[in-house]
Amino acid sequence: MLIFSILLVLILGLSIGSFINCFVWRLHAQKRVDGRSMCPKCKVQIDWYDNVPVLSYVWLKARCRHCKKSISWQYPVVELATGALFVLFFLLRHDHIFLNYNAVAFVALFRDFFIIAVLVVIFIYDLKYYLILDKVTLPAIVLIFGLNLLTGASWSGMLISAIIGGSFFLIQFIVSSGRWIGGGDIRLGFLMGMILGWPNILAALFISYILGSIIGVALISMKKKKMDSEVPFGVFLTFSTVITMLWGSELINWYVGLLY
Ligand SMILES: [Zn+2]
Repeated sequence: MLIFSILLVLILGLSIGSFINCFVWRLHAQKRVDGRSMCPKCKVQIDWYDNVPVLSYVWLKARCRHCKKSISWQYPVVELATGALFVLFFLLRHDHIFLNYNAVAFVALFRDFFIIAVLVVIFIYDLKYYLILDKVTLPAIVLIFGLNLLTGASWSGMLISAIIGGSFFLIQFIVSSGRWIGGGDIRLGFLMGMILGWPNILAALFISYILGSIIGVALISMKKKKMDSEVPFGVFLTFSTVITMLWGSELINWYVGLLY
């Protein structure tokens, strides 16, 4: 039963990952999200048997069947990452769902899947285009607020941690007159607070700054980036949000243990 469920969740995650690839491409190309998938290079529609997550990439040997141009490795990587995250979150919650047939745990799992999808979209879009889109973050804030309410989270607690997350970036935005970070980071900070709550929002901000500094220093020393070049900070923020969703409480307990 468990193996079967894991397989089902994996297939769901791979498919959502495939949808995310398509969604990000259409967001950037300003196209509506409907109709069939097509090759971004020759625009020929992709048949269903060439549109199977990961497997198609392998059996087409990373080339489009029609124009023979290469398919980006982004496609299978995003599919695999989304699939793996779905399975990971399912494993964390399946006890509550199966042992107690608990509806709230089921909603919480669905909310986690939705959050992962949103974060993966923001991650890729910021990595590729150096932009965090409001038309992704703002609807996500509203929907996650609603889903969290269904799982019994307090609306005031969510609002407070969201305001803390947003203000953290708002202050830097004001101090630097918008040079260090963009307005999209403020909205993402708000979304992170909504997702994580207090005090986990602090852990996520802390992790993303450490991660950002390490990778920033590494890139500068490899002379890939200049000191003042743009940093896609949404990449670090979304990554640390997932880490905090998974292990935030353990991290905070460990850190508090260091202090006392
Ligand atoms: Zn093609």
